[in-house]
Amino acid sequence: MRLARVGSVGHEQPVVWSGTEWLSLASLTADIDAKFLRALDVEELRKHFDVLPPVEVAALRFGCPVARPGAVYGIGLNYAAHAAESGADAPQEPVLFMKPPNTVGGPDDDVVLPRGSTSVDWEVELAVVIGATASYLAAPGESSTRIAGYCVANDLSERSFQLGRPGGQWTKGKSSPGFTPLGPWLVTPDEFDLLPGVGLRSSVNGQARQASSTADMIFGVDELIWDLSQYVELEPGDVVLTGTPEGVALSGRFPYLRTGDVIELAIDGLGHQAQRVVEWKEARNG
Ligand code: ZN
Repeated sequence: MRLARVGSVGHEQPVVWSGTEWLSLASLTADIDAKFLRALDVEELRKHFDVLPPVEVAALRFGCPVARPGAVYGIGLNYAAHAAESGADAPQEPVLFMKPPNTVGGPDDDVVLPRGSTSVDWEVELAVVIGATASYLAAPGESSTRIAGYCVANDLSERSFQLGRPGGQWTKGKSSPGFTPLGPWLVTPDEFDLLPGVGLRSSVNGQARQASSTADMIFGVDELIWDLSQYVELEPGDVVLTGTPEGVALSGRFPYLRTGDVIELAIDGLGHQAQRVVEWKEARNG
């Protein structure tokens, strides 16, 4: 099942894809939020399809497919070839960093280059949206029951803010406004087969950058959720970004993003994003 939120920023409406058209969920829920995801029963929801009114989305913006998450977790260096291009050893256990929840945005919203930035980079990632509390899971096999669905993410990163700063961790480079485009939709596990390797791609101005698959992941999704649950309590609506494959500008093979660039990102079965890169303006701070 595909779930999405359509409309202008702050005014998104929840919708579901019937297989032929988008239907309004407004009579069932105010939003695709923690409460909705916790209670989500895909088979039960499908029974309502014949009474839900269609929504014409052609002229509407797609927003982030989940309402403001409680937390956005990032996993670093989780693809072997990306760890190598970053000059890092493959980690022995998952590397965790945080992104503020207010970095999430729609899949096609403009990417604003932060003030003073020099090195803004793209990272296509498989995002996992949590559907049930996960705390101290006993084994990776328990993870799948905690997952509400999957979506495409761009884990935008300002490398000069991220690397070599005091403290030795990455949050400054991962947290600028709009640095986590998500969507276009959330795909529930009944319609998304994680195995075998799912293809992930990104391009800038039509030129290929990343072209890889989840087969290059060091830690699989179930292992990541299990590992995270030993340190944090994952809650419905939380988002876990599972790492990016090789082909980012940090590798030195490509230039960093510039005003006017168009970034496109896609994951097999999860849809496509396209973002225009724009310069920072003082007015945006108002
Ligand atoms: Zn990342």
